Amino acid sequence: MSPLTADFAVIGGGVIGLNLALEAKRRYPSAKVILLEKEKDCGLHASSRNSGVLHAGFYYTADSLKAQFCRDGNRLLREYCAEKKIPVNACGKLVVAKDEQELTGLEELYQRGQINGVPLEKISAQDAEKIEPRVRTFQRALFSPTTASVNPKLVIASLIQDAISEGVDIRTDSPYLARTSDGIRSKKHNFSIGYIINAAGLYADKIALDYGFSKEYRILPFKGVYLYGDPSIEKLRTNIYPVPNLKNPFLGVHFTLTDEGKVKIGPTAIPAFWREHYQGFERFNLQESIEILGREARLFFLNRFGFRKLALQEMQKYFRSKLIGLAESMVKNLDKKHYRIWGKPGIRAQLINIKTDKLEMDFKFEGDENSFHVLNAVSPAFTCSIPFSKYLFDKIEHLIGDNPKGEKVGNY
Ligand SMILES: Cc1cc2nc3c(=O)[nH]c(=O)nc-3n(C[C@H](O)[C@H](O)[C@H](O)COP(=O)(O)OP(=O)(O)OC[C@H]3O[C@@H](n4cnc5c(N)ncnc54)[C@H](O)[C@@H]3O)c2cc1C
Repeated sequence: MSPLTADFAVIGGGVIGLNLALEAKRRYPSAKVILLEKEKDCGLHASSRNSGVLHAGFYYTADSLKAQFCRDGNRLLREYCAEKKIPVNACGKLVVAKDEQELTGLEELYQRGQINGVPLEKISAQDAEKIEPRVRTFQRALFSPTTASVNPKLVIASLIQDAISEGVDIRTDSPYLARTSDGIRSKKHNFSIGYIINAAGLYADKIALDYGFSKEYRILPFKGVYLYGDPSIEKLRTNIYPVPNLKNPFLGVHFTLTDEGKVKIGPTAIPAFWREHYQGFERFNLQESIEILGREARLFFLNRFGFRKLALQEMQKYFRSKLIGLAESMVKNLDKKHYRIWGKPGIRAQLINIKTDKLEMDFKFEGDENSFHVLNAVSPAFTCSIPFSKYLFDKIEHLIGDNPKGEKVGNY
């Protein structure tokens, strides 16, 4: 059987892969662009199992790619949703403090927001209550008017339609299995490929290794679970977040509103034991599990970046009472019996540097004139997806265009 050919192959049909495939087609209209997705449909992993929050961009230091793309990504994704008639819940967000100590963190977020050009208001506890009467905060809060929520599944469905109508050849049930001398071996076909773009989320590091990349990095999966409030009783007017620990990439348990106004508590950041460890032994993979548990055990015993405390605290959040207990510090009159419905968990494809044993805080990518690998498209990559994918494709064009053969570049 002779291999099928394409100029570009994008591996992974999440929000990043779909945007990159669209970029390829828009920049090279006569090129054949295929997108290989291992599942029966695109976007079934992080891109549809997330909080759906369009972040404003004030958590990240100014020198980061996250800061560079979040503010504009928020605006561009809202414009995209308006154009495609996808509902956006423009409910904003309050960041609240528990005690005096957290006021320093609140101030740090405010300063980051100022530097990143993000609209953000410092308000009193009384003014916070005017926005959401049930909110609890110590003395002050921040209000972010541009934070919003969408249903990520609707965004993905629309991107799939765009990709199909613009000529991207989407092949589902087509996992990347191996690198061949001139392309890719997949389940049903071999493909001869001009340029390979790896946007495989939880498996991006494994695929990158086949091309000589990701040598210093591995994915460490963290599970995010959600607890939904009874929609007929539980109502909030805005998203409510705590001051996060800025030393790790997670934002702490918070209240988010869906596009339809449903309230949910979460997500957690519980260390998962294999990459797609969503529930029970679903998608269990022994080899993966040995590798990941080994890595987690090492981080636990050496207590790198406070992993021991993080892991022990996060594991407790499997208990409904613990999760609600944490949320109670941010909202008054929270009745446990109104929070009983667990939502679909999502898994963060968080990158860890295996030489330094540190979690990577920013987006990462590596590539050369043959292939490109998106390695740490963690939150807020959904928000950032439009400008971030354009930026990544600029890098790809540069690599294809005028880089001497063999030279490898990345943002590390
Ligand atoms: C719990 C949680 C909450 C989040 N909340 C937010 C939020 O509120 N706002 C925000 O901006 N971001 C949020 N994020 C982050 C955001 O969801 C991700 O950054 C984004 O979805 C990453 O997109 P992706 O395309 O890189 O990955 P994915 O959506 O995981 O896509 C990767 C794709 O690659 C496919 N794939 C894997 N291996 C192969 C293979 N061998 N062959 C072919 N295909 C393969 C997978 O099936 C998958 O479809 C959250 C993430 C999680 C997990």
